[in-house]
Amino acid sequence: MGVLVVGSVALDSVKTPFGEAPDALGGSASYFSVAARHFAPVAMVAVVGEDFPQHHIDFFRARDIDTSGLEVAPGRTFRWSGEYGHDFNTRRTLDTQLNVFAAFQPRLSAQHRRARHVFLANIHPELQAAVLDQVERPDLVVLDTMNFWIQGSREALVDTLGRVDIVLLNDEEVRMLTGEAHLVRAARRVMEMGPPMVIIKKGEHGALLLTREFAFSAPAYPIEEIHDPTGAGDTFAGGFLGYLASRPDWREEAEIRRAAIYGTVLASFTVEAFSLDRLAAATPEEIQARFQELRRMVTF
Ligand code: AMP
Repeated sequence: MGVLVVGSVALDSVKTPFGEAPDALGGSASYFSVAARHFAPVAMVAVVGEDFPQHHIDFFRARDIDTSGLEVAPGRTFRWSGEYGHDFNTRRTLDTQLNVFAAFQPRLSAQHRRARHVFLANIHPELQAAVLDQVERPDLVVLDTMNFWIQGSREALVDTLGRVDIVLLNDEEVRMLTGEAHLVRAARRVMEMGPPMVIIKKGEHGALLLTREFAFSAPAYPIEEIHDPTGAGDTFAGGFLGYLASRPDWREEAEIRRAAIYGTVLASFTVEAFSLDRLAAATPEEIQARFQELRRMVTF
């Protein structure tokens, strides 16, 4: 099997200078899965409430995403709402309601336990750990998180960080986690917590990938009109890990560099529309065209 992801499947209410979308499909696992599915099979582990529209589940299934680990529990679906001003690099969370996630206890099927590539998407770090505990022999574990968990569940997060290969954080989160203002120093501090590779997402400025051996800077694909940046980070992760999961040896430096470019390419579709609308419509030809364009942009 390909990539196993645990994370949020949500109903998001987002407001940007271009308009607003109430109760739209969102969640870290949703964006990740649709992006990663361009490259590899994906299985979701998550929970939604009885109010979650069936057509969203059908949407995942139509993309051949394995939803057998997506539980429907009594109660309301996870909800998040946020607002962006004219500077799309900073957002304000207005509300986070865990709802059915508060009591969720994931139990992996025998097949899911054999996953080799695992994405611990943004969700409670104890849930991330509960999934990891059940995976028998993972070859690559990537973790993402958010200010909400860095502030509210720091200890559990630091414990889980000690068990992963790659961590993804945005610039604000890496500063919050380490107390270091300087990004390279902050990344070193994160590596001291365990993960040998740190990727710092910098919104429209792309992503910076750091290990003890090498550094790589992936530019963001330049978009003329950003409509809603929600999910860009999770989409980056989907492009990045989905690509690596499709390769024979993810540890090759050249593959890691290409994976980061696929991450920013996939994220460029997400930000062009609300929810998953544009990401879901992206074709393999469009993805390849943006990949080649980015390559031309940075070759000199
Ligand atoms: P991103 O813009 O990539 O950071 O991800 C935004 C997505 O994360 C939204 O679709 C939200 O539903 C989801 N999200 C926001 N806050 C949380 C949280 N505390 N835990 C899990 N998922 C969240």
